[in-house]
Amino acid sequence: MRAAVYHGRDDVRLEQVPVPRIGSGELLIKVHTCGICGTDLKKIGTGSHSAPRIFGHETAGVVVETGAGVTKFSPGDRVSVFHHIPCGECFYCRHKVFAQCPVYKQVGCTAGYEPSGGGFSEYVRVMDWIVARGGVVKLPPEVSFEQASFIEPINTCMKGIQTLRLQPGETVLVMGQGPIGIMLGVLAQREGANVFTSDLFPQRLTIANGFGLGRSIDASQADAVKAVCQWTEGRGADAVVLAVAGTSLIRAAIEAARPGGRVLLFAQTVRGEAVIDPATICVDEKSLLGSYSASIDLQQEAVSFVCRREMDLERLITHRFPLSRALEALNLAAHPRPESMKVVIQPALEPGSPGS
Ligand SMILES: [Zn+2]
Ligand SMILES: [Zn+2]
Repeated sequence: MRAAVYHGRDDVRLEQVPVPRIGSGELLIKVHTCGICGTDLKKIGTGSHSAPRIFGHETAGVVVETGAGVTKFSPGDRVSVFHHIPCGECFYCRHKVFAQCPVYKQVGCTAGYEPSGGGFSEYVRVMDWIVARGGVVKLPPEVSFEQASFIEPINTCMKGIQTLRLQPGETVLVMGQGPIGIMLGVLAQREGANVFTSDLFPQRLTIANGFGLGRSIDASQADAVKAVCQWTEGRGADAVVLAVAGTSLIRAAIEAARPGGRVLLFAQTVRGEAVIDPATICVDEKSLLGSYSASIDLQQEAVSFVCRREMDLERLITHRFPLSRALEALNLAAHPRPESMKVVIQPALEPGSPGS
């Protein structure tokens, strides 16, 4: 089969690899759609992981083979797949900090090599603990693979919003209106918050507006901090979500929060140092929070949100690439254009691929 294989920093090659063999309790999935996540781009762009690997974890497709002992799934089932599932028993699981569980940190989906998701390939092997502990979600017939590929990212956004403990009527500023920023904005609004959005690209604010996020700040023209303060009697937002990677906006995000407000870092996945004013945390009593990856406790809600189409997530997809153009897809996702939003790879689009 074909796969986009990571060989190190900024080095991904389209190659032939063997179709993964599955063992007892496992599933083989034929990938229909796999979204490109910011964390995939971070790993490729920084060379943070050993090579070779096959990334891609926002996977939806069809079960084509089941291992011995699998009773809940059959070939032909349409599914979406989580690549991490916590053990449920360790210190971190007991404290509901699932993303820090040692079992959760093990990736349970692979298209070969060190398990790394595997969605940027034709077939993915789903390992036994993912299958046994609820990491594979059966899709109702009316839910498209494209819509279903958002179940994992929606879960991560729900978890981020839950971290903020929003009260109805609170003011939230979401900085960055890429696909994740829009999902975070919609979910904050769902909690009853008054949501403001900001982005450097007016095109993105127009797209956000189409999802009901109408109070926007064009950060190429206006200072987002000043604008939010003007709208909140000079105080600043009750909560600020930073959905832009890197450290350059952390200071502005903290400034945009009112005294006693909360700031959520949602896209700061690269370790390093950042400049903050410590008195904003101590004297101004602002809280700096973080959220990473998904929560098993939110899985049902995330599945229901996506499958009942509370949000038309497919509309966030602006670019669909066959696997043969995976490198182009990754390049576009890493260098987004004003009008490009979610980029997905669709091995099932491939006219020559086995089974399509
Ligand atoms: Zn992801
Ligand atoms: Zn655990």
